[in-house]
Amino acid sequence: MTGTYGSLQDITERKHAHEFENEMLQLSPQLTGITLPEISSALNLSLARIGKFLNADRAYIFEFNTAVTEMNNTYEWCNDDIMPEILNLQNIPTKDYPKWMELLLRKESIIIPSVSDLPESWKAEKAIFENQQIQSLIVIPMFSENQLIGFVGLDDLKRKRNYTESEVNSLKIWSSMLVSLINNYHTEKLIEESRQNFEIFFNTIDDFLWVLDENANIIHINNTVIERLGYTTQELEKHTVLSVHPDNRRDEAARIVNEMLIGKAEFCPVPIITKSGNLIPVETRVKHGYWNSKPAVFGVSKDISKIQLSERKFATAFQSNSALMAISDYFSGEYVDVNNTFVNILGYSKEEIIGNTSRDLHLFSDTNLRSEIIRQLDSGILVRDLEVEIISKKGDILNILLTADIIFIADKKCLLTVSLDISDRKIAEEEMRKARLEAENANIAKSEFLSRMSHELRTPMNSILGFAQILEMGDLTPGQKKSVNHILKSGKHLLGLINEVLDISRIEAGRLSISIEPIKVSGILDEMVDFIRPLSIQNSIKIISDYSSNLQLYVRSDRQSLKQVLLNLLNNAVKYNKPNGLVRIRVQSIQGESKDNEMIKISISDTGIGISENDIPKLFMPFERIGANKTEIEGTGLGLTVVKKLIDNMGGIIGVESTPDQGSTFWIQLPAAESQLSILQNSDIQTDESLESLPKKGTILYIEDNSSNVELVEQILTYQRPGIHLISNMNGRQAIVLAIEYRPDLILLDLNLPDIHGSEVIKMLKNNPETKNIPVVVLSADAMQKQIGNMLSAGANNYLTKPLEIPAFLKLIDEYI
Ligand code: ADP
Repeated sequence: MTGTYGSLQDITERKHAHEFENEMLQLSPQLTGITLPEISSALNLSLARIGKFLNADRAYIFEFNTAVTEMNNTYEWCNDDIMPEILNLQNIPTKDYPKWMELLLRKESIIIPSVSDLPESWKAEKAIFENQQIQSLIVIPMFSENQLIGFVGLDDLKRKRNYTESEVNSLKIWSSMLVSLINNYHTEKLIEESRQNFEIFFNTIDDFLWVLDENANIIHINNTVIERLGYTTQELEKHTVLSVHPDNRRDEAARIVNEMLIGKAEFCPVPIITKSGNLIPVETRVKHGYWNSKPAVFGVSKDISKIQLSERKFATAFQSNSALMAISDYFSGEYVDVNNTFVNILGYSKEEIIGNTSRDLHLFSDTNLRSEIIRQLDSGILVRDLEVEIISKKGDILNILLTADIIFIADKKCLLTVSLDISDRKIAEEEMRKARLEAENANIAKSEFLSRMSHELRTPMNSILGFAQILEMGDLTPGQKKSVNHILKSGKHLLGLINEVLDISRIEAGRLSISIEPIKVSGILDEMVDFIRPLSIQNSIKIISDYSSNLQLYVRSDRQSLKQVLLNLLNNAVKYNKPNGLVRIRVQSIQGESKDNEMIKISISDTGIGISENDIPKLFMPFERIGANKTEIEGTGLGLTVVKKLIDNMGGIIGVESTPDQGSTFWIQLPAAESQLSILQNSDIQTDESLESLPKKGTILYIEDNSSNVELVEQILTYQRPGIHLISNMNGRQAIVLAIEYRPDLILLDLNLPDIHGSEVIKMLKNNPETKNIPVVVLSADAMQKQIGNMLSAGANNYLTKPLEIPAFLKLIDEYI
């Protein structure tokens, strides 16, 4: 029975297998050679036919993502009254199907005749199947190039079923048919996407794009053609491309298009024409290729109307420019074009220039100029307003300001130079410079002359005054006495004039040597007040020194100049005062923004005749006496001129405030200085162990007129060398007497002394056998190398500059004592 039953079953099976094969054969042509939109329906159809044929409840395709971490139900067929599951089966994690995936990855089919009989190892999958009420199922993996891409399967919900071996084999064939269909679908989709991208790109380009067939008929165009030419696609497609070229140039276009079609030409300069008849200048380039598998020509037409416009603008600017403009080949240097100015100014014709280099024409005095410009441009340095000499055809040398830039003319790298002819400006500048120099020289010569003349006049004046004084002492008649008095008075006046002219001209000729040093204001004022006191007593004027609270203020100035300034101002304050008047001297410190800007103001006020507002500007002009020449008051009108020049020379300022009939205040301001002594006291010198106090014994003579400097040296010695005895004197000649008398071990010498210059002192010391061996060290604020050299060659043993560096000063003393 079993056998009969078996063979009967075999026959049924064979018949069924045969029918299944037939079914597949019928299906197969429907699954090949189909287009993209047809693929989805072919897949659905094939699921339905196989599902129905095998009497399954559900047939489906699942696809994996590339990493095989998720699966998606992409196609599904369901038998009548079976609920579709496709929407529930999206983005399913493969890790929820461990056993399932294990088999599929091993390329094994999964055949489950009875879900309820699944062993424990299928626990996870079993729960899911039962949830979907699946009783039995079959699943065949889909592989493409050894990569698991998905599976196809059939479910039974109403019964348990076992698939025969031949059914399984047929299903495997079916699965591989589906794989190629799915692969096709994906490639077609990619192609379609890139075709769409290409179309978008094609249509967003501003250039006109054409696809032509082998007969120059238009097959495809982009939106730019439609929009700018005003035709519809139908009006252009299948028409010859010659129809978009103007009638009068159609022959030329036809010739070029023909050459393009056979690959002999790639470029066409003929413009195209809009439907309404407007010309658009274009440059067209073509390439050969395939369109829809047929040979085609691809054309790109570039609208060059903007370029043409800017070219026209450039050409106009180039030709009519008043600067010399030239374009040359960047590498060979050969001129490509030059403008009219270039031709007119240099005298060459255009033909003589073009094709030659600047070197050929010997244009630049500096033959390496061009290569230097290229070098700079290559390293990214701008070439702007280079002052250059250029030589014309006639050989004239012109001065130009040259600017260079890189430009491209139709792909060719060129050098554009723009040059301004500045020869006239150069000549004018040179003339101005000469004129200024001449004027300066003339001024110096004038001052030199005045200075010499005043100097020469002084000697005879001295003897005139001297002899007049001797005459005055003799026995004279009253008439003679009066005459001699006249001589003396006029002579003194003349000497005053000569001295002041000498001062002014010395300052103007720059021959007044000054040495700026800290000067104690109260000290120098006291000195000057003492000087002026006889005159003030004579005129019954009281001088009030109102600076007792500011005794420690110092200014930076030249001692001699400051004395002369103060003396002049005090002298005027007494001279132009009223009988029993007052002169008040005040000193104050004016704080600047920083400590370095602090100034010291010295004011000298009088209770005299005052000066009207109109006259104030005249005060500092030479020979301006503002009515004082009509009075008895003696003067030259030069004093304040000298004062102003001296103050300017020291970097100070001078001013005046006055009320007529009530009095005037003349003030000066000079930069404040810190006293050397206070620097010493504030420094750590007294505790500085590197400067040990030595038990030296000896005598030093210090020739110096600045009492604060003397005080400073005294302090240093008291602290550091208590055994040394210091003698000081402010007067050069007197100091020499002291040197002979005391034979000091060392002489310290300042250069600007009231009576004679320090160099004279050195000379006198060195010429005297009694003093010539005493070492002399100059202490001066003058740090000019020339001065130092002069003093050392005059015989000084050493030269120290002020402000003193105390350690160096002590070292030097130790050397000599
Ligand atoms: P001098 O005193 O030799 O005339 P200055 O150059 O010193 O020359 O002064 C110029 C003029 O300024 C004086 O002639 C005088 O008229 C006026 N002056 C100068 N100082 C005073 C002063 N303190 N009060 C009034 N007038 C003055």
